[in-house]
Amino acid sequence: MGERRGLVFVISGPSGCGKTTLGERILSGDRDLVRSVSVTTRPARKGEREGREYFFVSKEKFASLREGNKFLEWAEIFGYFYGTPRDFVFEKINQGKDVVLIIDVQGARQVRKIFPQAVFIFLRPPSLKVLSERLKKRKLDAGREIEKRLRQAEREMRYEREYDYIVVNEDLDRATELLKAIISLERIKQK
Ligand code: 5GP
Repeated sequence: MGERRGLVFVISGPSGCGKTTLGERILSGDRDLVRSVSVTTRPARKGEREGREYFFVSKEKFASLREGNKFLEWAEIFGYFYGTPRDFVFEKINQGKDVVLIIDVQGARQVRKIFPQAVFIFLRPPSLKVLSERLKKRKLDAGREIEKRLRQAEREMRYEREYDYIVVNEDLDRATELLKAIISLERIKQK
């Protein structure tokens, strides 16, 4: 029997639907699961650290990485660029680790072309009203930014049918449990 190649899990969902928190929850205590840290041109928010949430780079640096084919996928979102480092993902799956990519719907489509066997999970809030309340409570973005994110959420939610699983984040514990169940089942699934 050959070495097991790692799985790729793609998690998408509107900004403010709990992707970061849920990501942390599924990663903690699972040594075979790693998260890919993306590269972005967005400035760091308060509390974000280089190499932990993102690798923060200039537009010029991003363009040179993109031209050097260093990204598995990339997208422009809210005027900033975001990309998944290609080498990291291949290195981990070749080591037999499962990799989680927390990326937007445009990026997910690109990953599907490279890894059709990847597992696509869409995370959504119970409603746009709940999402709006969460974004306001988070206070990370200005009012205009929140409006932009809500419109974007509406657009993104139209793509949920392209995903293998839709997880509604109404209750954090329940959503965590569902994500962990998906990961466990995919690990024992015979393709
Ligand atoms: P934020 O700026 O709120 O951290 O992220 C904005 C959006 O960019 C989120 O939907 C997030 O999932 C997405 N995103 C983060 N990193 C990447 C990436 O490497 N590629 C793509 N396509 N989307 C990303």
